[in-house]
Amino acid sequence: MELITDLAQLNRQRAQWQGSIGLVPTMGALHDGHANLVRRSVAENDHTVVSVFVNPTQFAPHEDFENYPRNLVQDEAMLQELGVDAVFAPRAADIYPSPDNQNYLSFHIQHLDQVLCARSRSGHMNGVLQIVSILFHLVQPYRAYFGLKDYQQLLLLRTLVRELHFPLQVIPCTLVREPDGLAMSSRNVNLSPENRVQAGILSQMLAQLKLRRAYWGTIDEALAFGRDMLSSQSPDARLDYLEILRGQDLQPPASLTSPEYPVAFVAAWFGDTRLIDNIPLWEYPGH
Ligand code: AMP
Repeated sequence: MELITDLAQLNRQRAQWQGSIGLVPTMGALHDGHANLVRRSVAENDHTVVSVFVNPTQFAPHEDFENYPRNLVQDEAMLQELGVDAVFAPRAADIYPSPDNQNYLSFHIQHLDQVLCARSRSGHMNGVLQIVSILFHLVQPYRAYFGLKDYQQLLLLRTLVRELHFPLQVIPCTLVREPDGLAMSSRNVNLSPENRVQAGILSQMLAQLKLRRAYWGTIDEALAFGRDMLSSQSPDARLDYLEILRGQDLQPPASLTSPEYPVAFVAAWFGDTRLIDNIPLWEYPGH
């Protein structure tokens, strides 16, 4: 496995490869959720590149860029074991050549970048769209793998690929959870032990919304149940949002019946750590 840190090295490596390249973009501090994406890419492509880059442009100034967990040595060991061909861990100055490592391109994707995380994290989705389109240009993958944990991000990236005709396939991958249901996330290591226990309630609450999907009188009733369950069983959580939107376009559904593909989305703070999760209330055939 090659560790690639600069663009010339990446181009040399790519020129030597024949066949399909799978790309798995990550911010490192890898866990089994990432491994799931990587395994799929290794199985489906001739070569797999995993990028490890904590992208500065997707963090607002007050967010956790500095505290974001980083562990390249451990990540490399895991990726070697999984059969990855190259880890691409570039320097910010190579990715963003302007003197302040910023990127002045703005992406706006109608509606999808106005709701959920985009509303709470100003500039975040723009930063994601910047880095992923740069990685697509540099790595030139045939397939790119993204997790359903970041559901809104996946919809935005699909739109990016479709609208700009990137010659690649976006492959959505299953959300991987801890035994108590907590969605795996690099940020989970920053939770205090008490918060770690309470964080499990997020997914248990979503599972309840799904279990009772046929019985809710209205969407508001379902959301009120979810908020009550969180405030009673996870009192340290500060809810950012709990919403039910259509899985295909993040518009409000008319009802909770299966043709609307309602998906429940939650984001909550535990101390300084913000966690997100989602659950399709009915299976969505689009993934
Ligand atoms: P990150 O390193 O958090 O930016 O995530 C990199 C990729 O891994 C994204 O496509 C995420 O959606 C995906 N990912 C992160 N956590 C999980 C998880 N628990 N299950 C599935 N995919 C995940």
